[in-house]
Amino acid sequence: MKVGLVYDPIYLKHDTGQHVENASRLEAIISHLEQTGLKQQLTPINPHPTTAEELSLVHHEQHISHIQEVAQKGGGWLDADTIMSPNSYEVALYAVGGVIKATEAVMNGEVASAFALVRPPGHHATPQQAMGFCLFNNVAIAAKYALASYGLERIFIIDFDVHHGNGTQEAFYDNPQVLYVSTHLYPFYPGTGDIDETGGGEAEGTTLNIPLPSGSGDAEYEQVFAQIVAPAAKRFKPQLILVSAGYDPHWADELAMMQVSVSGFARMVKIINELAEELCNGRLVFSLEGGYNLTALAASVKATFDVLLGNTNIEDPLGPPPHRIAAPDLTHLIKAIKEIHALL
Ligand SMILES: [Zn+2]
Repeated sequence: MKVGLVYDPIYLKHDTGQHVENASRLEAIISHLEQTGLKQQLTPINPHPTTAEELSLVHHEQHISHIQEVAQKGGGWLDADTIMSPNSYEVALYAVGGVIKATEAVMNGEVASAFALVRPPGHHATPQQAMGFCLFNNVAIAAKYALASYGLERIFIIDFDVHHGNGTQEAFYDNPQVLYVSTHLYPFYPGTGDIDETGGGEAEGTTLNIPLPSGSGDAEYEQVFAQIVAPAAKRFKPQLILVSAGYDPHWADELAMMQVSVSGFARMVKIINELAEELCNGRLVFSLEGGYNLTALAASVKATFDVLLGNTNIEDPLGPPPHRIAAPDLTHLIKAIKEIHALL
């Protein structure tokens, strides 16, 4: 069972200075994969830069040229959260290209599954603008590419980053070929992702939001994965599963207030992997989004690879949250989402 790893040192050249989304995130992951001997179990996949044509599958012309121009002028802040360096445009092309290459490797059967360890992340980037540390929407472009290049009709995107993937939702809001499901802290940045955002027109029902209260941990995530994510995926019958893998729901992550452990991420990945095996010949592509506690991020990415490789010994060096606050009761939320999406 081959598992692909997309990585290239070019991803370190998106220089964000003291920003929380910086190159040390990928350095921490790669060094942990090397030190634990896991990297040598993976099949390397070299990314290429995406093309203007591929970017246009999701993004408007003005947005693409704006990012290019800001880079040419030496970089700078695009909004209060999002910064670029002179190399960021080129790096962002490689980030999109990396997720596309991972998707190709899975679709062509070169690997069973793959994880693209890329930055900048993508899920907040809308067709028109960069935001939330994201320049181009890596996963959305890869999904459009797979629909166009492989003649697919149904792709399932699951986004477990702690923030709602507003950009991905927007890209596919009216597109019935993509089921977008997101678990996220709510209300929280970027403000979207309520349960009544369900898709437009003939795509009604193909956006499924699971806005979770702060303090949600392993048990709550497992509950919504079992009761909502899995049945929604089974009903949709995807031909490919893409994952916006953000590890900022970890209890040690300071950007949010969730209580997921490394073991909790491993259980979510196991459910996703089983869905891929049951529904689409195991075709599964992960793309890195957030995750800002370096120890938690590196251990969680390694645990993800362990599950994909079928390794049963999952290390959780940080363990469960040391000061577990009361678990929220999701009964009413789950009931409401099941009703809205007719998952009863
Ligand atoms: Zn995030």
